[in-house]
Amino acid sequence: MILELQKGIIYGPVNSRRLGRSLGINILPPARKVCPFNCVYCQYGWTETHVARADDIPDLPSVNAVRSALKNALTELPTLPAYITFSGNGEPTLHPEFDKIVEEVITLRGQLAPGAKTAILSNSALVSDPLTRASLSKLDMRIMKLDCGSRKTFTKYNQPCPGVDIEAITEGLVQLSAVHIQTLVAAGGRGNLNPENIEEWIERLKRIKPVSIQLYTLDRGYPSNQLRPAGREDLNRIQGQVQKERIVIDVF
Ligand code: SF4
Repeated sequence: MILELQKGIIYGPVNSRRLGRSLGINILPPARKVCPFNCVYCQYGWTETHVARADDIPDLPSVNAVRSALKNALTELPTLPAYITFSGNGEPTLHPEFDKIVEEVITLRGQLAPGAKTAILSNSALVSDPLTRASLSKLDMRIMKLDCGSRKTFTKYNQPCPGVDIEAITEGLVQLSAVHIQTLVAAGGRGNLNPENIEEWIERLKRIKPVSIQLYTLDRGYPSNQLRPAGREDLNRIQGQVQKERIVIDVF
């Protein structure tokens, strides 16, 4: 089943497999996905607003609206979260005032939830931009998507907007410190499980030198009918290939 999009700025806390109790921040419009990718496996269905820049999108929440929503949530929650996490209806770094919002979130965390860490789930599409990287670097944890190695599979699987290039993404990730890479693998005609793609993906990981890889497969609804979950043997084989390069990898 395809998941419902977030209707507001703050959601959760949710119990995340990777982060524990995590309070979500959605800085994209309510109930509409805005993303530079249109991944064939997206749990929210096909991308409605497929853009690599969001300057002209009128219903993005303002910096003040995000500050006020987070302040209310942190004041009212009976138990504070372990993480305050940028995620939600698409790609958070698309917000033209992402830098200011990051500053506000870090300030509020210090005032109201000093024990919580800040994190982001990003698809890496804008990581080649130095200003975006500077803001990402201020967060405690960066979980960045890299599903593919080959340009051909990236185009088919993540369906990026024109101009979003896997080589620029890789170079941006190389320049970002302490990156956790998140990779979803899937079998089927629109999947990314072909051996050439996996080999090229590992070559990119060797350049990026991530803190760890989080590898998983489909466990929710997805829009393409040409996909199926990777088998346990596929996940184990990829885990072994990555470990051979002395890169830490967790399979979820
Ligand atoms: S990057 Fe994330 S939100 Fe965007 S289409 Fe892919 S899975 Fe969905």
